[in-house]
Amino acid sequence: MDYRIVLLKGDGIGPEIIDEACKCLDAIGEKYGHQFLYDEQLIGGAAIDELGIPLPQDTIDACLASDAVLMGAVGGPQWDSLDPSIRPEVGLLGIRKALGAYANIRPAKLYAPLADACPLKPERLGDGLDLIVCRELTGDVYFGKKHRDADGTGHDDMNYTIPEIERIAHRAYALAAQRRNHVTCVDKANILETSRVWRETIERIAPEYPDIVTDYLYVDNASMQLVLNPGQFDVILTGNLFGDILSDEASCITGSIGMLPSASLGEGTLGLYEPIHGSAPDIAGRGIANPIATILSAAMMLRYSFGLTSEANAIEWAVDTVLEAGYRTSDIAKPDEATVSCAQMGDLIAADILQ
Ligand code: NAD
Repeated sequence: MDYRIVLLKGDGIGPEIIDEACKCLDAIGEKYGHQFLYDEQLIGGAAIDELGIPLPQDTIDACLASDAVLMGAVGGPQWDSLDPSIRPEVGLLGIRKALGAYANIRPAKLYAPLADACPLKPERLGDGLDLIVCRELTGDVYFGKKHRDADGTGHDDMNYTIPEIERIAHRAYALAAQRRNHVTCVDKANILETSRVWRETIERIAPEYPDIVTDYLYVDNASMQLVLNPGQFDVILTGNLFGDILSDEASCITGSIGMLPSASLGEGTLGLYEPIHGSAPDIAGRGIANPIATILSAAMMLRYSFGLTSEANAIEWAVDTVLEAGYRTSDIAKPDEATVSCAQMGDLIAADILQ
């Protein structure tokens, strides 16, 4: 079957890591008989340089007409002095909004061969770390009314509608059903009215999923539990603000920013897939970036947008195998370890997929 994928390579290491993800998708296509049709479009600094704006309408139209979008990263020092309204990051927020992507799914997994990179003591890890933060992405205090009084007092209105909470909750339960059947709802229901609505809504939905255990944590406790006993979590369901903070905390526990993928999903199957890291301008063009976060983002695309579970597993297993075999890009290597380049890492994973 044919799948139309828009590639938004973006800036910095974006083009390098997207090329390696496509290498792996092509290996999947060859092995399983699919055809992935790529349509490259501009975003971020690359779009500013060519067209003067970070998110051209052609890019939005192509993304909306596609089956899925795979993005590298945007931004870099050469665009930092631009007016905030036309900086590269505007393209990123704009494309998420245009796709109606309200669910941000960020897995944080500690790979056994990379356990040394984890900043926690081994005894804290127990059975390891393999969780997903399911963060609501289009509501909350980030999108509420903002204003500043004459005396300088700042206001940001935190609000959530019940339908907004319901749709992200159903996403979280669907994720948990494919994993270890456990949803932890994180809020601040002891203080915030928004959180009380959030918690009441989840309490009403939870009985629809009798096979899934639901528990509730206040966000301050959740942030402690993440470093004390991260193995207790399967799917963390939370709002935009708490999810922003907790997903960064969860990802830093794995110790390797170059390894972590993400998906942003709306209604239907169209989704935006991207690594959680930025454009890494300090290493761009040197061929040393770690492409694994982007390759794993492509695996999420196969799973969530195309329903190709075996193919997604094949990519994830290939990543495991290559890491087990000891291959490392420089960001995940120990000081005296041999390293492979970005392209070599892509070749190794693609070759393993084809075996
Ligand atoms: P960054 O994630 O780009 O880099 C942080 C550090 O991690 C750097 O030392 C970098 O070399 C390293 N790193 C990141 N990804 C790596 C990879 N795949 N392989 C090896 N090393 C990797 O964050 P930053 O330096 O704060 O931001 C750089 C630019 O990226 C900024 O312009 C920022 O606005 C932008 N940014 C974009 C996104 C996005 O597009 N989603 C996200 C975050 C930052």
